[in-house]
Amino acid sequence: MSAEIIDGKAFAGTVRERVSGHVKKMVETHGVQPGLAVVLVGEDPASQVYVRNKGKQTVECGMASFEHKYDADIDEATLIGVVEKLNADPKVHGILVQLPLPKHLNSDLIINTIAPEKDVDGFHVVNVGRLGAGLKAMVPCTPLGSYMLLKDRMGDLSGQNAVIIGRSNIVGKPMGQLLLQANATVTIAHSRTKDLPAICKQADILVAAVGRPEMVKGDWVKPGATVIDVGINRVPAPEKGEGKHKIVGDCDYASCAEVAGAITPVPGGIGPMTIACLLANTVTATARIHGLEEPADLTF
Ligand code: NAD
Repeated sequence: MSAEIIDGKAFAGTVRERVSGHVKKMVETHGVQPGLAVVLVGEDPASQVYVRNKGKQTVECGMASFEHKYDADIDEATLIGVVEKLNADPKVHGILVQLPLPKHLNSDLIINTIAPEKDVDGFHVVNVGRLGAGLKAMVPCTPLGSYMLLKDRMGDLSGQNAVIIGRSNIVGKPMGQLLLQANATVTIAHSRTKDLPAICKQADILVAAVGRPEMVKGDWVKPGATVIDVGINRVPAPEKGEGKHKIVGDCDYASCAEVAGAITPVPGGIGPMTIACLLANTVTATARIHGLEEPADLTF
């Protein structure tokens, strides 16, 4: 194995330290404590774990954390009322509605009810549009975390060939926007792309955000490329015992690491960066709402 391992877990710790420093300054100098509200609907176990982790890390960084939990059968009008109340609450600077929502709720409608300046997930159409237009926006956390790791390792991304596999609104498309703004040459591949391995082989930067376990093989990777594996896939792990599972990425780590110059592991790569960037976005939102200087080390 030759690739350098990009330690997202360690870098996420660095981002949290930066967040804590900015929060301390905001509290001490301006009397403003950033606050993050998370809205959770239903009993989905994975969502409950995420929300618990988010709340814990928010408090550890010195911010206020507000959790709003509702039964799965909450009606749409009530949930919209909850979001509107948070929009108007001066103690709340970031609002996150944990997805997926139960089927009877219109996720787009709920997300687009969040005040754009408090939309720390960056999913509101105003933020999507602003990012696309190259204006100040709230940037979705997973692509922001991926981008921070790339910048930390590679510095100037200008002229780099970047291939992103996956065109989702939460990862693939915003990742493309960030890399375009950094003057990379961007290709977004997807399920209808022809000869994906040959396209990937051109990439100096290869971002896999597909949701297919270990799909990207070592012989798809250009020697020396930087590989960002966004995938989180739960697969059976009989070697650990009957009925056991493990988490793998969208890249076949062993073969990709033979060829790549650097690669993010799964777990321990992009996953921890996502929550760290949620905290970073909450500080950025607070600075913008209160007209304070925006921390340059928390955004792209
Ligand atoms: P998605 O299902 O919304 O999108 C997947 C994309 O992959 C689609 O655009 C589709 O066109 C493309 N695709 C599917 N099959 C393909 C194929 N055979 N060849 C080429 N492209 C193909 O998924 P998403 O929400 O973008 O998530 C992608 C992965 O990233 C998932 O594993 C998800 O769990 C993970 N994820 C991780 C984090 C994190 O914090 N690390 C956050 C979000 C998503």
